Amino acid sequence: MNQPPMRVVVAGGGTAGWMTAAALAKLMGKRLDVVLVESDQIGTVGVGEATIPTLHIYHRLLGLKEQDVMAATNATFKLGIQFENWRVQNESYLHSFGFLGKECWACGFHHFWQKGKALGMVSEIGDYCTEHLAAREGRFAVLPNQDYNHAYHMDATLYAKFLRKLAEQHGARRIEGKIESVTQCAESGDIQALVLENGERIDGDLFIDCTGFRALLIEQTLNTGYDDWSHWLPCDRAIAVQTKSVSNPPAYTRSIAHASGWQWRIPLQSRVGNGMVYCSKYWSDEEAKATLLANLEGELLNEPRVIQFRTGTRRQHWNRNCIAIGLASGFLEPLESTSIHLIQRSIIRLMQLLPSGGSYEAERNEFNSQTLEEMANIRDFIVLHYKATERDDSPFWQHCKRMPVPESLAHRMNMFEEAGKVFKHGPDLFGETSWVQVMMGQGIEPKSYHPIVDMMSDHELEGFLGGIKGRVTKKVSSLPPHFDFVAHYCPAK
Ligand code: FAD
Repeated sequence: MNQPPMRVVVAGGGTAGWMTAAALAKLMGKRLDVVLVESDQIGTVGVGEATIPTLHIYHRLLGLKEQDVMAATNATFKLGIQFENWRVQNESYLHSFGFLGKECWACGFHHFWQKGKALGMVSEIGDYCTEHLAAREGRFAVLPNQDYNHAYHMDATLYAKFLRKLAEQHGARRIEGKIESVTQCAESGDIQALVLENGERIDGDLFIDCTGFRALLIEQTLNTGYDDWSHWLPCDRAIAVQTKSVSNPPAYTRSIAHASGWQWRIPLQSRVGNGMVYCSKYWSDEEAKATLLANLEGELLNEPRVIQFRTGTRRQHWNRNCIAIGLASGFLEPLESTSIHLIQRSIIRLMQLLPSGGSYEAERNEFNSQTLEEMANIRDFIVLHYKATERDDSPFWQHCKRMPVPESLAHRMNMFEEAGKVFKHGPDLFGETSWVQVMMGQGIEPKSYHPIVDMMSDHELEGFLGGIKGRVTKKVSSLPPHFDFVAHYCPAK
C-alpha cells in the first residue's frame, strides 16, 4: 500500500459536492488527495431543505454533533410529512418516521389495528406511534434514554458551507472557477482532467460529477444516457420561494396537493422554504406561481424562481472513472425528501467500493446495480402517492389515477389491498411502516387481516391496543413544545 494517494476531483460544490468532499477527506484523507472545483458564477440549485432520518448515519460517520449541525443550518426537527388533499380534498394524513404499534414476527401492527377498527375499539392509527402523535401535537425533544426517529428541516446553503469547512480542515482543496472543458484519454475514454475558464488544468484519477442538472462529466462528456421516468412521475417543474418564519413551526413538512401539482412548506428557525412542484402539461408557470402565491403565509423574502427537471436516472451512475452523485445522477421529485439520502448512500457506497488500483469493473457494476435498485424502490414509493388517489377533479389527477405503474408497485398495491401485506425488499429505503401509512393514507384499505390476530380474544386485543395507545400518549405528553426545545437545544448561530 505504498502507492501515492489517489487523486479525486469533485466537480461541483452544492450539497452533493461538499457532502462528498467532506466524507472522503475526513474518512479517507490519508489515501486520497481531494480537490473540489466550483463556480460562484454558476451557483447551486438552492433548494433541498427537508431530510429523512438516515442523515444521522452520515453525521455519525463524520463525527458531527447534532446540535452543531442544527445551529449552523437554522434547523428545526422533522418527524414526518403531512400530506394534505392527496387522497381527496380537505383531508390529510401523516407519514411519520416512527414505528406503528408493536412488532410482531408474523405481520405488521396494522393487522391488529384493523380488527380493532372493525370492533370499534381503536382511534386513528397514528395514535399508536410516538413520532406520529408528537408531530401532530407539536411536541419533541432529544432525550438521553429515548431516541425518537427524527430528521431535520435545514438551510441547504448553510449545510454546504458547514461541510466545506470540515472538508478543508481535513485537507480537501477548493478551486474556484468555471469548468470549460473536460479532457479524456484517447485510448480508454477515461476522464483525465478538468480545464477551467482561466486555463488551469486539474488532473485526477477518479472524478465525481456533482455538477447538478448540468451533469457536465457523466453526460455532457461521457454520454452515459438517461432513463426517463416521467411517464410515471409527470411533474417536471418547480417554483421555489422563501417567506418569513411563522411562529411555532410544526415538526413536519407539509405537502399540499393542488390541481396540477403540490406545494411544500418547510419551516426553518429563520424562514420558511416554500415551493410548488407541477406538471407543465397541465399548468403554465404563471398558473403554478399564482396558486403558490395565493397559498403562502408571511412576507416573501425573494423572487419566486422556476426550476425545470426531468424525472429519471442516469443509465450508469459510475461510468469509466466518473461517478455521478446528486442531481447529476438523476432526479426523483422531492415528495419524500429522498435526494440528500441518495447522495449519502452513493458516498458510502463509493467508499465501500473504492478501487485499490487495477481494473475496477466489478466494483463499478456493483455500484450501478445497487444505486439503480435503490432509486427504483424510491420511485415506486413516490408514484404510489399519485396513483392511489380518489381525486378526479382535474385532468392532472385523472391522468395520475389512470396511468399504468411499474409492475413492482402494482404487485405491492395488490398484495396490500387483498391482505394488508407489504414487505421491505433488500436495499429498500422505505420499510413496512412507511408503506402502510401511505397506502392507508391514500385510501387503500386491506380486505382482510392476518389470521394470527385471531389468536387473541377480543378482550386481549382491546387490552393490547389500549396499552400501546396509553404508553404513546403518556410519552408524548411528557415532551416539551417542539419549538421551545429547538430554542434551547440548537438556537441558530
Ligand atoms: P447543485 O446544487 O446544482 O450544485 C451544482 C454545483 O456544480 C454548483 O456548485 C455549481 O457551481 C457547480 N457547477 C456546475 N457547472 C459547473 C461548471 N461548469 N464549472 C464549475 N462548477 C460548476 N432534496 C432533499 O433531500 N430534500 C428536499 O426537500 C429537496 N427538495 C428539492 C426541491 C426541488 C425543487 C429540487 C429541484 C430538488 C430538491 N432536492 C431535495 C434535491 C436537492 O436540492 C439536491 O439533491 C441537492 O441540492 C444536491 O444538489 P447538487 O449538489 O447535486 O447540485
